[in-house]
Amino acid sequence: MEDMAQFAQLAQLAQRNPEIKYTEIFINNEWHNSVSGKTFPTINPATEEKIADVQEGDKADVDKAVAAARAAFKLGSPWRTMDASQRGRLMHKLADLVERDSVYLASLEVLDNGKPFVDAYEGDLGEIVNVLRYYAGWSDKVCGKTIPVDGPMFSYTRHEPVGVCGQIIPWNYPLPMMAWKIGPALACGNTVILKPAEQTPLTALHVAALVVEAGFPPGVMNVVPGYGPTAGAAIAEHMDVDKVAFTGSTEVGRIIQQAAGKSNLKRVSLELGGKSPLIVFADSDLDDAVETAHGALFGNMGQCCCAGSRTFVEETIYDEFVKRSVARANSHTVGQGFDLKVDHGPQVDKEQFDKILALIEKGKEEGAQLGCGGSRHGDKGYFVQPTVFYDVQDHMKIATDEIFGPVQSIIKFKSIEEAIDRANNTTYGLAAGVFTKDIDKALTIANSVQAGSVWVNCYDPGTLQAPFGGFKMSGHGRELGEYALHEYTEVKTVTIKLPQKC
Ligand code: NAD
Ligand code: MG
Repeated sequence: MEDMAQFAQLAQLAQRNPEIKYTEIFINNEWHNSVSGKTFPTINPATEEKIADVQEGDKADVDKAVAAARAAFKLGSPWRTMDASQRGRLMHKLADLVERDSVYLASLEVLDNGKPFVDAYEGDLGEIVNVLRYYAGWSDKVCGKTIPVDGPMFSYTRHEPVGVCGQIIPWNYPLPMMAWKIGPALACGNTVILKPAEQTPLTALHVAALVVEAGFPPGVMNVVPGYGPTAGAAIAEHMDVDKVAFTGSTEVGRIIQQAAGKSNLKRVSLELGGKSPLIVFADSDLDDAVETAHGALFGNMGQCCCAGSRTFVEETIYDEFVKRSVARANSHTVGQGFDLKVDHGPQVDKEQFDKILALIEKGKEEGAQLGCGGSRHGDKGYFVQPTVFYDVQDHMKIATDEIFGPVQSIIKFKSIEEAIDRANNTTYGLAAGVFTKDIDKALTIANSVQAGSVWVNCYDPGTLQAPFGGFKMSGHGRELGEYALHEYTEVKTVTIKLPQKC
């Protein structure tokens, strides 16, 4: 936010008590109570108070949603016979409706997730609208090839939808994650069962209501809120789900891939965590590098899969870099997301809060130097002080484990070879960044780090037209851009015998 007046104006828009309209399970364009009759509470992480009880979907509800999605995918159904361009128009309409309700949706997200309003409004809402529009445009551009095969034959490929797609998403960016999943799935003509994270189910349910308003046929999109080991597992294990897409922890990614293997070998795409390096050389613009490294980690309170959580800094600028990074981390105003001045909200839930505080203690114990922060903020809500550790060694837990919180680890390096080796010394491979004015160094790093995205003199600029995904244990498959379409299409080869070669 550059302009304070604009900032103030935006924050004034926020609805501090947004009405909670939808708390049920969305199947076949209708609202349902859970088959079991159970509900679960969703909590405001800034106050630790309950916002609402939500219908708790589990296997029986997933079965209903899968049946609806399967019926909507049947040959001859309105969705299968719809012109691809019309699918695109429906998706544009959905994007328009989300944009219309942006203030409401952003307010609901502040309540449910805790992030500051401006981040929810400008970041998350901007992104879901852009991603839906991007994929709306792809709807009538997904096409195969004609292939010069041997013999008097004519071969062509059709890129057909995979079918019923289960999509299990996390709580850190509830609406962008929804868009990354449903965007390419719907553009390619699939039907969807989305399971939002149990921490943040509310905004996905409002978007479900907009799906009806946009005019999508029943069963094309279904939303089943519930817990992972019940509702999520039922999707992953289901014999009639053709594909599962997941974003979340590596631990659960492994469970999902196993469930697919043990059931119907459904296709799987996984976007898991990371321990992404950001390598800063001494020739960098120091102000820019400090600010970018800061944003790379502290954005969204550190709850980002591609967070730059290992800041490698060349030794000759190390002390100055640490000094400036500590000052920057100390400059935050921590508090609840509706407050005008707040730019750092709570962590999403108690589990994350406890995990982060435990890792901070481990960092202190293992001898990392604490530059600032290091404990909870206040005594109510899941707030963690922006924390900077320096003199961090590669073997320390804070340098190896995904913290998923506002904890920056600044690590010293001497040579480019050493930086590459140490950057790659992790089981993860989601992203990496490099700051330098030397093109040779930049390209050497870009070509040598094992990561699905490499950013040079920037970090996670949010290029939704370009693919995103992991090497190694950060997952497989790619989201965003044209590449994501491959995850949601089956390639069919049709070969026709001709009377003669011509
Ligand atoms: P998680 O992986 O448990 O949850 C993510 C999603 O998976 C949620 O919708 C959840 O309900 C579902 N899920 C959980 N168990 C499941 C199961 N057995 N079968 C099917 N679905 C299941 O993540 P979490 O517990 O919320 O957070 C734990 C850690 O995961 C975090 O500390 C962080 O390191 C990492 N994480 C990564 C991302 C990311 O964007 N890659 C997002 C959230 C969390
Ligand atoms: Mg979990």
